[in-house]
Amino acid sequence: MSTHLQLKGPTVTGPEQWFTGDVYFNAYYTGQEPSRARLNLVRFTPGAHTAWHRHAVGQTLHVTDGVGYVQTRGEELIELHPGDTVYTPAGEWHWHGAAPDQFMSHLALWEAPGPASGEPETTWGDKLTTSEYPA
Ligand code: MN
Repeated sequence: MSTHLQLKGPTVTGPEQWFTGDVYFNAYYTGQEPSRARLNLVRFTPGAHTAWHRHAVGQTLHVTDGVGYVQTRGEELIELHPGDTVYTPAGEWHWHGAAPDQFMSHLALWEAPGPASGEPETTWGDKLTTSEYPA
């Protein structure tokens, strides 16, 4: 194995049970043990957003385009712009997505938990209610 260009994987749509609205992602890196790192580009159409969820080992988001939001349960909404980097700690319930009238794209970096953990990488909860998503 040497330094190489990766084959380009497909752009896939975000599953309906985890996302509200149209979301597209590309998996750019899915580490094989001993690496457990994952890097995706996620593109949200206006108004599209994740359901509530948490990551076993936390997640870093880096906004590349548009305007959006991230919010931890019980905390204030944070507006996101290109160049912003956000960290959501391990196990913390949160959601992220586009503003109602803007696209938003971010890179998402996270790790799978170690083999002994038994925890899923991401635990999905309820979709946002209409009062939870900013009007
Ligand atoms: Mn997340």
